[in-house]
Amino acid sequence: MASGLRSSSSSSSFTTAAGGGALSSSGRFERQLHGNGSSSSSSSSSSSAVSTQGGVSFGQTHLPGRSKAPSSRRSVTPNSRTNSGSDYEEDRGRVRVAVRLRPKNAEDIILDSDFADCVELQPELKRLKLRKNNWTSESYRFDEVFTETASQKRVYEVVAKPVVESVLNGYSGTVMAYGQTGTGKTYTLGKLGKDDASERGIMARALEDILASVSASDCVEVSYFQLYMECIQDLLAPEKINIPINEDPKTGEISLPGASVVKVQNLDQFSQLLQIGEANRHAANTKLNTESSRSHAILMVYIRRSVHEKVEDGITSWEKVPRTTLSGSNAIPLIRKSKLLIVDLAGSERIDKSGSEGHLLEEAKFINLSLTSLGKCINALAENSPHIPLRDSKLTRLLRDSFGGHCSARTSLIITIGPSARHYAETTSSVMFGQRAIKIVNMVKLKEEFDYEGLCRKLEHQVDHLTAEVERKQKLREDDKYKLEKELKECQDSFAEAKRNLITRSEFLEKENTRLEVEMKDLLNELKCQKDHNDLMSEKAARLEVNIKCSKQHQLESSTYQKVLADTTQMYEKKIAELIKQLKDEHAHAKSVEEQLNAMKKLLNDSQKTIQGQKEVDELTVKLQEMYQLHGQTLSELQSLKSEQEGLLGEKDKILYMNGNTKASSTFGTRIGSQKTNSLRETLSGQRATIAKICEEVGLQKILQLLTSEDSDVQIHAVKVVANLAAEDFNQEKIVEEGGLDALLMLLRSSQNTTILRVTSGAIANLAMNELNQGLIMSKGGAQLLAKIASKTTDLQTLRMVAGALANLCGNEKLHIMLKEDGGIKALLEMGRSGSNDVTAQIARGIANFAKCESRGINLGQRKGRSLLMDDGALGWLIANSNNSSTSAQRHVELALCHLAQNEDNVEDFISSGGVKELVRISVESSREDIRNLAKKMLRSSPTFRTIKAEKY
Ligand code: ADP
Ligand code: MG
Repeated sequence: MASGLRSSSSSSSFTTAAGGGALSSSGRFERQLHGNGSSSSSSSSSSSAVSTQGGVSFGQTHLPGRSKAPSSRRSVTPNSRTNSGSDYEEDRGRVRVAVRLRPKNAEDIILDSDFADCVELQPELKRLKLRKNNWTSESYRFDEVFTETASQKRVYEVVAKPVVESVLNGYSGTVMAYGQTGTGKTYTLGKLGKDDASERGIMARALEDILASVSASDCVEVSYFQLYMECIQDLLAPEKINIPINEDPKTGEISLPGASVVKVQNLDQFSQLLQIGEANRHAANTKLNTESSRSHAILMVYIRRSVHEKVEDGITSWEKVPRTTLSGSNAIPLIRKSKLLIVDLAGSERIDKSGSEGHLLEEAKFINLSLTSLGKCINALAENSPHIPLRDSKLTRLLRDSFGGHCSARTSLIITIGPSARHYAETTSSVMFGQRAIKIVNMVKLKEEFDYEGLCRKLEHQVDHLTAEVERKQKLREDDKYKLEKELKECQDSFAEAKRNLITRSEFLEKENTRLEVEMKDLLNELKCQKDHNDLMSEKAARLEVNIKCSKQHQLESSTYQKVLADTTQMYEKKIAELIKQLKDEHAHAKSVEEQLNAMKKLLNDSQKTIQGQKEVDELTVKLQEMYQLHGQTLSELQSLKSEQEGLLGEKDKILYMNGNTKASSTFGTRIGSQKTNSLRETLSGQRATIAKICEEVGLQKILQLLTSEDSDVQIHAVKVVANLAAEDFNQEKIVEEGGLDALLMLLRSSQNTTILRVTSGAIANLAMNELNQGLIMSKGGAQLLAKIASKTTDLQTLRMVAGALANLCGNEKLHIMLKEDGGIKALLEMGRSGSNDVTAQIARGIANFAKCESRGINLGQRKGRSLLMDDGALGWLIANSNNSSTSAQRHVELALCHLAQNEDNVEDFISSGGVKELVRISVESSREDIRNLAKKMLRSSPTFRTIKAEKY
């Protein structure tokens, strides 16, 4: 709202500007606003009635004096009526005077119908013409000229609003209406506008603006009183009828002790106050038997505003105060006190003309005293007179601030006039009053005071706050102190504890240190010993290396010896075998000779008993002697053979001794020596034991290496040793692990040597006894190799070995398919061509193994379908060989046929090949009861066999 006011004021011709200021001894800060610098000099000389700081300033008026108005009229917009910049500067502080012409009333219309108006307004020129008669007229210029159509709003904005704004900014201000009774003073100032808001007068509008501009902390108060016959009566408390005027001797400020001062909160409340005031004024005038036109009504509005950091008039009051003493939040707050006077003056007409009768002249003079005094003062001020008779009346005393008082204010005067020529004299008088007043220039001062009370309250509040804060902090500090002391105590305790622990710990560490030092010494000694030992060991290692070299050399040599030994051993074995045979023959011969001898003896005895004749006895004696002789010869032959054998053994021992293998030779020798008459089989097992020992000494790896020797003799001997080793269960896996199987298969694949092939086949047959090895042999193509050998060789021993190997493989059902696919079964059966019983026995064993595995698979439900043997013609072979002379072969053939018969899927083959007949035969003729029973069972269990058997047999 304040900004709204300012913006409105910019279009007003009543605008003022700020001037200088000074801090008074009373702490009041005052600022002067005046028209020009020269005015201040005249103020000091002419304001004897007021303080030196705040003297009234009567500046030189620059108002255009009487001048002829331009004859031409121009139509202008309202805005064009605003002052130019230069006027604005020049007219600062000057009393603003406007003229308002009341519209014609009924009386005017009736009474002046024959007369022309005496007033002519030229608002665009701000001029008023007074026509005395048809040929004489005077023109006067005012700050504003309002025609009879001027609105209340515009009158307020032009006349009063700048004053109100100025008051809100801390300056005092006065708005006065002067004029003849009935010209509209009360209408202009005091109209309430209850029915029509547009009719509201200056009082209502001013309060409206003020209330809208102030903040909650500001204060707006009003007093309302009237002045009649030099008596001041409170219109808000009409019982107060003679209120004195007090003047502060120091400041010269005017106050009305006892007058009601009512704080205004809102516009409604103010309207009510005005209404009460009007009613009281009317009642008082009735009581005093007077008319309101004879009394002056004065509305005083007191405004008290706190000064914040806002800029007013371009300068804040703070800038004028020494900041060193008033800094920060403790700076003394400033308040601005200002006062707005709205004065509805009594009618300006001469008393005798007012129509109030019944008054004495003196009384009439008294009635008019105040107004007359005002006129005199205005004259004096206008004429720049050295003496202004302000003290002559109460009105002038009250208006001292408005017309050059201590707090000289912005003052606006509105002269109300009527149009009627009948009142020409009064109108002229009013116009002239205005013309004089317009010359007055006030020194406008800003009145600011330090709000010590406010500051005091604020400081007390701060002190209270700080005291509480100090107490709070003190309490907190005490608490902290207590807490810190407690913590300190705890720290000291824990420190002492830590110290104790540290001492204990350091003692322990010292002990530990001593112990460790001792330990370290011991360790160092030990280390030294170890080092010595190491040196010793490295010496030994060096020596051992030399030894290893030597032994390698020795080994090389020994292998040559071994070869020789093996050859010799074989040779001797052969010889031993021959000798044993010879020995056996000799034994048999000796035995038969002995038997003959015994028979002879018996015969002799019988002969002697019967004594058939001396001749016969002599003949028998000769025969006996011959027999004895023969026996003796045989015995001597036997003896010589024994000695020859012993010689040979001695020679063998010698050779073994030469080889450094005294242990083996002694064992061998002992064995041979102690078992001179043991069977060949025992000799063979002895041989194996010997070979095992040799193997132990030489190492399996080395023997296996010899298998790859380029020398076929070495290969033969090596493979023989391996074959013998493979006969033992515990060697089988070891040989395979050490790569023996691969080496043997390689020999089978590459060698053309019959012996090698035979012995190798035997070795593989031995290895094939082990289930684990069976799989390996198959996976390494062993079956194919064996089949190949079988097809090539005619050597019966080789064929027996190959058949044995394949027969062993047949006992592993997991390998059946592979064995068949690799041609193993076919090869096995084809070896039957050799006609050898031994080979046939192996073939039969293989087929029986195979068939047994299949029948077991069928029983367990793991297998189905026709036997794998059928395609290769096994059944035919079995039937063909069922009458083999070898018992072993026959047994296996019979078993194989029984097992195959167990498989229902083989039945057709049996029928087509005549197998059923064979089964029936076995069930009857087999030498073994268990086989007979088995065959019977087969024939019984199969429904097909049962039928066939029933039909044919
Ligand atoms: P005063 O206070 O000067 O004696 P008033 O204000 O009582 O005069 O006015 C006299 C009469 O004239 C009132 O009835 C008032 O309504 C009327 N009057 C005065 N001025 C105007 C105006 N400008 N427009 C309309 N009526 C007015
Ligand atoms: Mg009036």
